[in-house]
Amino acid sequence: MINDFERRRIRTLKKMPLGAGAVVYWMSRDQRAEDNWTLLASRILAEKEHRPLQLIFTLNLKYPGASADHFRFMLEGLKETEAKLRAKSIPLILLETEEPAEAILRFHQKNPIAALFTDFDPLRHKRSWKEQLISKAPFPVWEVDAHNIIPAWILSEKQEWAAYTIRPKVHRLLPDFLTDFPELKKMPLENLKAFPKINWPRISGVSIQKFAKSGSSAAEEKLYSFFSNGLADYSEKRNDPNAIAVSGLSPYLHFGQISAQRIAWEIDNLEGNSSGREAFLEELIVRRELAENYVFYQANYDCFEGIAPWAQASLNQHRSDVREFLYDYEAFENAKTRDSLWNAAQIEMKRTGKMHGYMRMYWAKKILEWTPNPETAWEYAIRLNDTWSLDGRDPNGYTGIAWSLGGVHDRAWFDRPVFGKIRYMNENGARKRFDVPSYIQKIKTMENFNVE
Ligand SMILES: Cc1cc2nc3c(=O)[nH]c(=O)nc-3n(C[C@H](O)[C@H](O)[C@H](O)COP(=O)(O)OP(=O)(O)OC[C@H]3O[C@@H](n4cnc5c(N)ncnc54)[C@H](O)[C@@H]3O)c2cc1C
Repeated sequence: MINDFERRRIRTLKKMPLGAGAVVYWMSRDQRAEDNWTLLASRILAEKEHRPLQLIFTLNLKYPGASADHFRFMLEGLKETEAKLRAKSIPLILLETEEPAEAILRFHQKNPIAALFTDFDPLRHKRSWKEQLISKAPFPVWEVDAHNIIPAWILSEKQEWAAYTIRPKVHRLLPDFLTDFPELKKMPLENLKAFPKINWPRISGVSIQKFAKSGSSAAEEKLYSFFSNGLADYSEKRNDPNAIAVSGLSPYLHFGQISAQRIAWEIDNLEGNSSGREAFLEELIVRRELAENYVFYQANYDCFEGIAPWAQASLNQHRSDVREFLYDYEAFENAKTRDSLWNAAQIEMKRTGKMHGYMRMYWAKKILEWTPNPETAWEYAIRLNDTWSLDGRDPNGYTGIAWSLGGVHDRAWFDRPVFGKIRYMNENGARKRFDVPSYIQKIKTMENFNVE
């Protein structure tokens, strides 16, 4: 059963009496059968009201900026989710469409929807899809935050300034929300009736060489391998891209193949006293939920206008500073800058679908340094990250870029050319943290590089 705190994960988007038909979960961001509050809430209502339960996934193969690699990763994960759902007699229905709201309303004409649940997502276009649906839906609609441990609207009612302002709120609310999950109960077998297995579209043109397998089981394997190999070194070595110290979980988290709450719960219940635990939970919970908070409350989360007035003023003052080097988009994309460390990071992202977290900061800051103005830097950094990173198009990405280029959640530093008061990074800083030549060499030999 869902308790009072768990009920707080649910928000009413459209209040109406239940109509005839099924309870539907429009799955979008949380693409898993286990540890999923939206699914659990839908299942409970279906049982209470004696209704069938159906899941809909709307697939837009022309999704802006998404590559074959993103689709491959997502669809493989969804196939596993479909199998797990069918084992619980819950059908997953695929609607291929560029207009999700319209597709759901058309579905409703033939298969009446009594009530609809969907995943919370702060991204602009996802909110607009929901608004379109709500404006015309003749059924009640609820939204559930199954992605964050503390629902974004409960954690804070405003845009937070920095990690130090949101951290006390996280620590105050965490004991209420960091719980285990109830098991998903099986539906009666007839619930599957009329909905055959999905004939999944084939994806061609995949380019990433050897990124890890996709899906909830692969995510779980990755988690347990991180526990035995990585977590203990996390606080000391997470900024060293040569070390095995980060989890590699971000693509799985992005597609909702694993729940952050599950990860935090498992860590809380690990035996022994690993020094990496606290540092890891700071990133997984505080930093991640801070990123969600920025995107949820800041309408301009992906551009210059979203950053603080001090940072805008400082970057404006330095607009006409001479840039030592300037590169166009193709030079960045093809890793053709004069900086072999930057090129290595770009190649790592293109070949594996993932750039190390420390290198992401360096990489983005250099784009600010080597483009004619901050607007171009934002455009290039977002396009490159969203095109080549498997975890791209995520609130973490827009916030990470705003941190790097615009000092979001950071403080003002000493004034310097081009950057103004935005924190600066250079290769000397990287050399103090890790063996830069080894990293470059590792990427050069990447034809045989297996990231698993
Ligand atoms: C310029 C730039 C771009 C970024 N783009 C993305 C992106 O597109 N998608 C993405 O998920 N993250 C992005 N990040 C945040 C962070 O770098 C990645 O989440 C992290 O590197 C993912 O690797 P991991 O799972 O091995 O991380 P780990 O260090 O193992 O951390 C575990 C999890 O904690 C969360 N986390 C870790 N660091 C951060 C952080 N700084 N902010 C918010 N959450 C964090 C992530 O969910 C991550 O998967 C970006 C950061 C910067 C500076």
